[in-house]
Amino acid sequence: MITPLDHLVPAEIRDTLVALRRDLHAHPELAFAETRTAAALERALQPLQPVSMMRVAGTGIVARIRGRTPGLPIVAVRGDIDALPIQEATGLPFSSANPGVMHACGHDVHAAWAVGAAHLLAANPAEGDVLVVLQPAEETGEGATAMLASGVLDDVAAIFGAHVDRRFVVGEVVAQAGPLAASADSFEIVVNGRGAHGARPHESADPVVCAAAIIGALQTIVSRRVNPATPAVVTVASVHAGSAANVIPAQATLGGTLRAVDPETRTLLAAEMRRIVEGIASAHGLAASVTFTPGPPPIVNPAGPAAWARTAVHSLLGTQAVVPLGITNMAGEDFAYYMERIPGCFMRIGARLANEPVIPAHTAQFHAAEGSLFVGAAVLAETARVASAVLAKG
Ligand SMILES: [Zn+2]
Ligand SMILES: [Zn+2]
Repeated sequence: MITPLDHLVPAEIRDTLVALRRDLHAHPELAFAETRTAAALERALQPLQPVSMMRVAGTGIVARIRGRTPGLPIVAVRGDIDALPIQEATGLPFSSANPGVMHACGHDVHAAWAVGAAHLLAANPAEGDVLVVLQPAEETGEGATAMLASGVLDDVAAIFGAHVDRRFVVGEVVAQAGPLAASADSFEIVVNGRGAHGARPHESADPVVCAAAIIGALQTIVSRRVNPATPAVVTVASVHAGSAANVIPAQATLGGTLRAVDPETRTLLAAEMRRIVEGIASAHGLAASVTFTPGPPPIVNPAGPAAWARTAVHSLLGTQAVVPLGITNMAGEDFAYYMERIPGCFMRIGARLANEPVIPAHTAQFHAAEGSLFVGAAVLAETARVASAVLAKG
């Protein structure tokens, strides 16, 4: 396939990346089970003779690509590698051969980007060494913390990553300061009452009616408690109670997700939820508890590293290639865990041809246009070079 963007990556590396991406796409593996994937990625990196290459967090890989000058600050580029439990329906010739598992979030492309960046940096090194980080288990929100816990990123001075995005066409890149992804915390609410015959509600402490009141009242958090200028989401996504039409159950459970793009709102959502749940339960004469499971924090790109990324995109693709995100992304992304500890920038890379439909990620039809492979690889490599050059000056 030839696109006007092919100049970004030399022909022989393009062929390698296309073959690698198609192979990964055809053999998707779920979080922390990416064994075939990791082996394929190691094989793709080995010919570059990295300074070092190690397995981290089971199916993760960190390869160190030599820079021009030893001893300078280290920059990292990260690609995530896991797939989703979805039955593929793209009709692609390299569709998933693994029933019920699919690269529906483009991590096949992200993994190939990181390998592509490694090839480009081996051919044209950054000032300092660059760590190529291939991370498992993004979809479960566990992979980045596992990579960080290993300590291999302790000396990294800046980290960069990106996600394919079919709202943008191939060649467009979002590289801006500010919020790029939301926090994604989950909650479970347990309402404990007293069961009774369905015909005798006065003998019960009915958790179903209480749960319904809680669901309604939770809608006031975003509408009445959060500053209208601040994005936030409270979604009750699961409701479970009862098993028969004539039995009032003793317990109801609700589950869902909280999203915010700043730490203050994130804290407010949880505190308000707890206050409302306990207050409504008390008003109904029942007891309720809330358990929060923290997910990734928001991604808020700092201005400096975002500017380095833009400099890279400008030099590769021209100034018109940098486009605004244009929305507030309320999805979570576990790259945020790196950015809690390491300055960096998370980008969105256009992945749709101009005549194609948008197609949301996490659906059976999702796939990234092949040209996005070369854009992502080149942008990550060049961003690493720009960052490394700036950091080398101290
Ligand atoms: Zn995803
Ligand atoms: Zn993803």
